[in-house]
Amino acid sequence: MTWQSPISPGYSWYEATTPERPAFPVMPGSRKADVAIIGGGYTGLQAACNLARSGTDVTLIDACRFGDGASGRNGGQFGTGQRVWADETEEVLGREWAQRLFDMAENAKRYVLGFAEEHAIDIEFMPGQLSVGHKASLERDYRNHVEAMTERYGYPHLSFMDREETVSRLGSSHYHFGIRDTGTGHIHPMKLVVGLVRQAALAGAHLYEGTKALKIEKKGGAVVIETTSGTITADRALIACNGYIGNLEPVTASHVMPIRSFIGATTVLHGHTGILPGGESVDDSRFVVRYFRKSKDGRLLFGGREAYTADNPRDISAHIRRQICEIYPDLADVEITHAWGGSVGITMPRQPFCREVMPGVTTIGGYSGHGVMLANYCGKLYAELALGKSTELDLLKQLKIPAFPGGTRFRSALLFLALSWYSLRDRF
Ligand SMILES: Cc1cc2nc3c(=O)[nH]c(=O)nc-3n(C[C@H](O)[C@H](O)[C@H](O)COP(=O)(O)OP(=O)(O)OC[C@H]3O[C@@H](n4cnc5c(N)ncnc54)[C@H](O)[C@@H]3O)c2cc1C
Repeated sequence: MTWQSPISPGYSWYEATTPERPAFPVMPGSRKADVAIIGGGYTGLQAACNLARSGTDVTLIDACRFGDGASGRNGGQFGTGQRVWADETEEVLGREWAQRLFDMAENAKRYVLGFAEEHAIDIEFMPGQLSVGHKASLERDYRNHVEAMTERYGYPHLSFMDREETVSRLGSSHYHFGIRDTGTGHIHPMKLVVGLVRQAALAGAHLYEGTKALKIEKKGGAVVIETTSGTITADRALIACNGYIGNLEPVTASHVMPIRSFIGATTVLHGHTGILPGGESVDDSRFVVRYFRKSKDGRLLFGGREAYTADNPRDISAHIRRQICEIYPDLADVEITHAWGGSVGITMPRQPFCREVMPGVTTIGGYSGHGVMLANYCGKLYAELALGKSTELDLLKQLKIPAFPGGTRFRSALLFLALSWYSLRDRF
């Protein structure tokens, strides 16, 4: 029987193509741990795996199944750097911070690829990324970005694409120009989740699914987590719930906001050889980004969202088809075999959020659409920090990430208005 994530809409093509997804029991009762982790996406799983390997007694719980949040359902694109380009970050935080954040993301890229290779996890990596401009007025920014990355940030893999090259690499005349990045690529996200879960289990982490954290508090120096199946008493804890945090912990909830994003997978595109002949993934310059790529077996996986309603669209396929047709009108009648969505955790400045929310309790999330490599790496960095091996994670703790305005009652509504406004601007 197929499994449907209770927290994310639609049955994904990734689930359909990962039949061997392992299942774990509900926590059998109260327990003790050196470290307790809440949330089994990339962040929590990497933390658990790295801690367990070093002999730490670690318990990881997930309210649903590992990968049911964003980690098993995303666009699979690594990108390069953080969500905001380094040269834009430089204008706000200065050159040194921009470089450090960029270097962290490059470390993350290397780490994920190295992890998959070391453990022979077939994540279906395909190289190449195209970032394309939907407004002619952005051309100077794109050219400047290539120049900055090449000359100042020591990243030699970008080249500017004029309209002709953009059209031929995309197989679409929808975009004006773009940037080709040969130093990154895209993966099958659920295969990474499954490989990672297996490594965490092998390393001796105690893994429980269907176990929801209800409350976190400090009692007599210990962290006590009340769950739906007993309590966990630990020396320290990691909250890795990202865009699914709900009401569990107020600091995370006020700094990391969920926005829904949706993906559709078409049937294998026989005969459409002009579409992405180089196999790269694509993201565009819209504020409400569209992102797409071909799978290894030749389907179009197309992601985006409409910002006009906070709910899931009634028909995700129809919503995705509209966006596909704008870029590839020849695919108007193509069958969409799977359509699904998930919550992306974003922050105000689109930089990751990491903070100690009470003594011994750290929260990490808000990768703002760049979590495929960053969430994995931050989970590993959390483990290293806990083990006293590295302090690289402290870089994120120093970032001044403001809370979303509006308080608990109005936060979502205000974000929603802002998204709708920017999505309207995307059109003109
Ligand atoms: C549709 C979509 C497309 C995306 N595309 C890309 C992309 O192309 N490239 C990119 O870099 N990033 C992308 N992202 C973002 C990326 O997937 C995330 O940044 C990353 O997976 C975050 O991992 P995580 O472990 O922090 O959180 P998640 O994977 O979201 O995991 C959080 C987990 O916490 C659990 N949880 C929540 N509350 C509780 C509780 N109270 N008790 C127990 N467990 C709880 C949930 O069940 C969930 O499993 C996309 C996201 C989505 C949704």
